[in-house]
Amino acid sequence: MKSTHRIGLLLALVFLLPAMFFSVYEISSLNKNEEMIQDIYNKQLEALLFSVNQYADDVLGNWISRTETGVDAITSEAEIPSRINDLLTYNSSLRTVFLSDTTAITSVQRFFSLDTSTVQNQRNKIDSALLQNKSLIEELIRYKKSGFQKVVVLPYSWGDDNNLQCIGVISENPPGHFRVTGFLIEPESFIQEVVGPKLQGISRDQFILSTSRKQPAGIVYSTWSRDTFSLVQAESVAKDFWLFPDYTFSIRTQGTSLKQIAQERANINMAMLISLNIILVIAVILVFQNVKKEVQLAQNKSDFVSNVSHEIRTPLALISMFAETLEMGRVTSEEKKREYYSIISKETLRLTGIVNKILNFSQTEANKKTLRIERIDLNKELTSILNTYDFHLTNKGFTHTVSQRPNVFIRGDKEAFTESIINLIDNAIKYSGDTKRIELITGVEGVHGFVTITDFGIGISKTDQKHIFDKFYRVSTGDLAKSRGTGLGLSLVKQLMDAQKGKISVSSDPGKGSSFTLFFPLE
Ligand code: ADP
Repeated sequence: MKSTHRIGLLLALVFLLPAMFFSVYEISSLNKNEEMIQDIYNKQLEALLFSVNQYADDVLGNWISRTETGVDAITSEAEIPSRINDLLTYNSSLRTVFLSDTTAITSVQRFFSLDTSTVQNQRNKIDSALLQNKSLIEELIRYKKSGFQKVVVLPYSWGDDNNLQCIGVISENPPGHFRVTGFLIEPESFIQEVVGPKLQGISRDQFILSTSRKQPAGIVYSTWSRDTFSLVQAESVAKDFWLFPDYTFSIRTQGTSLKQIAQERANINMAMLISLNIILVIAVILVFQNVKKEVQLAQNKSDFVSNVSHEIRTPLALISMFAETLEMGRVTSEEKKREYYSIISKETLRLTGIVNKILNFSQTEANKKTLRIERIDLNKELTSILNTYDFHLTNKGFTHTVSQRPNVFIRGDKEAFTESIINLIDNAIKYSGDTKRIELITGVEGVHGFVTITDFGIGISKTDQKHIFDKFYRVSTGDLAKSRGTGLGLSLVKQLMDAQKGKISVSSDPGKGSSFTLFFPLE
């Protein structure tokens, strides 16, 4: 397996797989989490409702104790004790207060009401309630004897639609003597007057609390003036009212409902998870690409070392061989001598070329090379390079054509310009097959002046085109490409072009040839 593939697989294993597993697990447990959160939240809401119920019970407990102390203080049968009078006056939901000796639970012994017109009617109701709940009362007395006091609704069927509820508790006075202390209460006004303010206190603009009637269904009280029964039904957590089982308390969050909050949370979590995964995938791809580049670079570097060693060794061997031969004086003919000298000088030039290229490259890469950007007459400069190079081209059997657009003035560094052109012409020579022709074109495109150098050689495949400007990169196939080179030329040209605020582009067809274009900013 190639080392880059191995690294890719490793990255995927180390980063992506766990993330994917985690995401799948999280997504599958998202709903469960939300349900749990909703459950916990519901429990908290229920706790609030519990406190409301507790409050109503406390209020009633207070009324009972006030009644008891009030009654025990009076002497005359006819008067209403002042405490009970206050109780009746300030609580309009409380219609009647009564006390009944449990030894004779069918007849009310003490009876207090402010409304004398309905006295008889109410007395009959209480009588009926006590009678119908005889066994319940006996049970409550048993509770009381064991020290437990409980407020209960005494249901009765009286047969009118007056919605009064009878509530009672067993009290003991004097010791061993039990009686029922009770009230006739109008539940809806009790809810509105007594429980309502408490609900307002709890709601604090965060919750909507309401109390509803079960039969016929409807809202009796809500902390939100525009509340409707259908809204209460749809969104609330509800609990029975302990005192009046025909009524329920409901609570829900203000504005967004609990369901919506849970849904929103689920959506946000899901979106975060997906974006995290996307970021992770992108990060892994970037890391992989970087690693791949580094691995490729390391590979190229090691190729470079062996290439350059070979490149240097060949001319050195030739130089030393011919120099030795000359030194020994074995060559007698002048013609041979001249040939050997010329070989030595050619190989020395080649060596110098290679060393210069490497030095140039390292200087440019380290940003040590200072460019002198100036106005360049593109055609004039190109012609002068070609004049110098003409001999070399002809020597190699190449012909060249130049088609120039007149008056192209660019900004660039003359040395860098020459270096780039020579590199491209050298490559064109190196990578041409039998068609030994080079075409040069100058022109203007947009804000750039350009030179195109075209050969009709081996060409470059699309995949290699992406890499040929990388440092040390050499195309590995093809005998010609293998021949000579350092893999520095095009990378050097690209660096020079970047430094001159220009660019280089390539278009090539394998087997047909390549065109390299240098773009310089126009003057
Ligand atoms: P070198 O020529 O020393 O190998 P370069 O950086 O100049 O290094 O070129 C990189 C690679 O691009 C070369 O190895 C070669 O395969 C390819 N290449 C460059 N120019 C040409 C061209 N004109 N025709 C075909 N291939 C080319």
